[in-house]
Amino acid sequence: MALHLPKYKKQTLEHALGKYMRPKFIYIPLISGGDTNITELVQKGDYVNKGSIVARRKGNFKIPLVSSVSGTVVGFEEHLCYTGETVKCIKIENDFKDSELNIKKNRKLSSISKKSFIELIKEKGIIGMGGAGFPTYAKYDSKRKINTLIVNAVECEPYITADQMLALSFSEEILEAIDAILEINEIEEAYIAVKKTNTSLIDELNNHIGTYPKIKLALLDDIYPMGWERMIVKRIMKEDYDRLPIELGVVINNISTIYAIYGALKYNRALTERTVTFAGDMMKVPQNVVVKIGTPVKEIIESIEGLKKAKNYVFVAGGPMMGQAVPSDDLIVTPNLNCVLVLKKEEETELPCIRCGKCVAGCPALLSPVLIKDNINSVEELRKLHPEKCIECGACSYICPSGIKVREYIRLAKEKIKEVK
Ligand code: SF4
Ligand code: SF4
Repeated sequence: MALHLPKYKKQTLEHALGKYMRPKFIYIPLISGGDTNITELVQKGDYVNKGSIVARRKGNFKIPLVSSVSGTVVGFEEHLCYTGETVKCIKIENDFKDSELNIKKNRKLSSISKKSFIELIKEKGIIGMGGAGFPTYAKYDSKRKINTLIVNAVECEPYITADQMLALSFSEEILEAIDAILEINEIEEAYIAVKKTNTSLIDELNNHIGTYPKIKLALLDDIYPMGWERMIVKRIMKEDYDRLPIELGVVINNISTIYAIYGALKYNRALTERTVTFAGDMMKVPQNVVVKIGTPVKEIIESIEGLKKAKNYVFVAGGPMMGQAVPSDDLIVTPNLNCVLVLKKEEETELPCIRCGKCVAGCPALLSPVLIKDNINSVEELRKLHPEKCIECGACSYICPSGIKVREYIRLAKEKIKEVK
């Protein structure tokens, strides 16, 4: 059962893309792709350039974390990140010089080998900017042949317009980058996945796409969760995969990630900034803002005229469906934070489950959310129900007539299974 959600996108689309690029301090949270197993590579007193590596993930994906300013490491502090939890952050005082090392003036995008491309996007800290934060280099570093690149510009959650605003502003750069990625990796074709209803982005891309015969638009239905990787791949390739799209010879990247790759290919730039949607009924001037990674959200909100007066606010890192409510405004921008919502806190009442089965019918991952909820205290039963397949789309919570936060049970179930592994 596909969901047709209200959009709430008009306000941020009507407002020009803002910029907040001069934070006095930035805070680099020691987390990447949900993993806090990170090695710090700097200490108090060290000078860092913009793009310098300040920490590196351990384990399988040794992706670096980079500084988004030049300046001095002044210490370590704990702040909230997109998971809703507090994490240790490297605090860097900005010297406002934006000094960067080894910047290229105007490199030909396709001038490097596939091996150098993989190394470049890894060392420039490029990760998926659509939410999950998966290391981008790992998708290209495959023994399997890549036949198709899919660029995800679907952005199906209400409120969020960060990808759209970026793509409207930099469509030529994005197309140039896609073309170079195809050439470097010997990929035959690319599709840019866009919702059929997103006519402004379709028109903008169509204005420039003619010079790139290998790049096509794939126009998809405006339903939720159409931005889910598996759903996009199935609609375009007419096939499903088991674990990863590469099984079908497909790599899928978010459109903002493609723009970050453009910066790395053309200028040797690291991922140091991103566009974030600031929206919700409590925001005085909802808009998209280009910000440095590591900037406190509170500062950005103040720079765009702040919040309306209310007794209580709810801060959400991400969109209303997949986002995570955070306990305060002490939130830091990470590469995968696409949206900050500030909503008025309403009284919420949970009624008993009426066994209507709507959460089961609405689950795109074909799970039984109600059964996972009912069996939350039995790890043995939970294992049989495969909560690990949940993509945390929030459809079950949205659809539940009893107002039960079903998705939170699924998240808890995932944690419980991990704990007893
Ligand atoms: S949040 Fe998970 S369980 Fe709920 S509908 Fe989405 S995929 Fe299914
Ligand atoms: S949608 Fe809500 S009320 Fe209906 S079965 Fe699922 S949890 Fe129960």
